[in-house]
Amino acid sequence: MNKLSRPCRMMLLVNPQSGKGQALTLYNNHIQRMLNEAGIQHTLVITERQNHARELVREADLSQWDALVIMSGDGLLFEVINGLLERPDWEEAIQIPLGILPGGSGNALAASIHHYSGAPQVSSEELLVSCGFLMCKGLVSPMDLVCIHLSSCPRVFSFLSLAWGFVADVDIESEKYRHVGSARFTVCTLVRLASLRVYKGKLAYLPATDLPKREEGLRNKKTLHCNNQPPTSVPGRPSTVSPCENTFHNSCHSNNSLKVRKVESTPPRSTNISLSGPSDSLLPPLDKPLPSDWTVVQEEDFVLVLAMYQSHLGEDMMAAPGSTLDEGVIHLFYVRAGISRAALLKMFLAMEKGTHLANNCQHLVHAKVRAFRLEPYTPKGIITVDGEVVEYGPVQAEVHRGLARIITG
Ligand code: ADP
Ligand code: MG
Repeated sequence: MNKLSRPCRMMLLVNPQSGKGQALTLYNNHIQRMLNEAGIQHTLVITERQNHARELVREADLSQWDALVIMSGDGLLFEVINGLLERPDWEEAIQIPLGILPGGSGNALAASIHHYSGAPQVSSEELLVSCGFLMCKGLVSPMDLVCIHLSSCPRVFSFLSLAWGFVADVDIESEKYRHVGSARFTVCTLVRLASLRVYKGKLAYLPATDLPKREEGLRNKKTLHCNNQPPTSVPGRPSTVSPCENTFHNSCHSNNSLKVRKVESTPPRSTNISLSGPSDSLLPPLDKPLPSDWTVVQEEDFVLVLAMYQSHLGEDMMAAPGSTLDEGVIHLFYVRAGISRAALLKMFLAMEKGTHLANNCQHLVHAKVRAFRLEPYTPKGIITVDGEVVEYGPVQAEVHRGLARIITG
């Protein structure tokens, strides 16, 4: 772990439309003074449309900045990370410290970082203030990214989650309730429970315990290089088996004055192209068979499949309580068809405190994996990556340990 230098030149990207549309007000009320008092010079960039941030960081002269911080939901950070990895100099670019201040309706990474700091769960403006303080402390830690292969666009990089079935449907159906903030997820969970569906498909994964030793060594070396400290966890270690696993197994160089910079971006390239970035050593081409050391899930009827690589799925949803920032592990959850509405509701309610795995639910399965492949058979549906809709169809993913760096305080 290392620390942001002072004075720190921070680009703060604010999405004025995120969440309840109050990100700028939240910045003015809580963040501006906090950063000024901490001696953090920041340049406020207000995003004007979808993919603005992605194009901006793809072309930016990063030598001018010590950190890129976004104030929005998870969607804007997804754009920034993918923009960085689309650069010819991606290897250096992805090393720039990133930060997140919760200003959206889906603030899962901010909630995860707050959780890792050891503080009790909070939401809304309390979460924002906590993340503001962590930002001012400025400690930088490595963060895993997951590379995702889709059928017709090369690759996207994800820092949080991939969802199919119940969770993806709720995420997207709840977009129309974004004015109520994070409560949008609760409302839509109840609606979806009333019309519970089964999703057909094939799921397979490479268990984390089957990590090739050589790969593990290389990755640890890379993490050492990033933070000058030994890694905090080893991805190949035997996982603690939960009861459920047993079931089957614009500018402000803000020295106290605010000017907003209008930043023009160059004409966009295709937004999904990501041919740069690290290569994936565990994944065969999406249309080729999987290696024999992968586990194929027997069931083909699911209520949900959810891959998580941080602890929180929302401000008050600790879906992967065992997850840490850079363990090099994907926490793969699936719920088999046949679960009752009552049991599913109980599972989601328990998720608030992260106790759902202790409920001994026979339909919930949790596995720690390095890579997975999902092939939906249900012809129409939704797959989300970090809460954003991606192409529906076969998808596979591999974790890259500690590829990015994030301010954790
Ligand atoms: P939320 O949690 O509220 O969904 P996100 O950060 O996920 O917030 O942002 C949602 C989307 O808004 C992102 O896909 C982003 O590209 C887009 N966006 C960014 N700036 C603007 C803008 N000025 N107007 C409309 N959409 C924008
Ligand atoms: Mg979003």
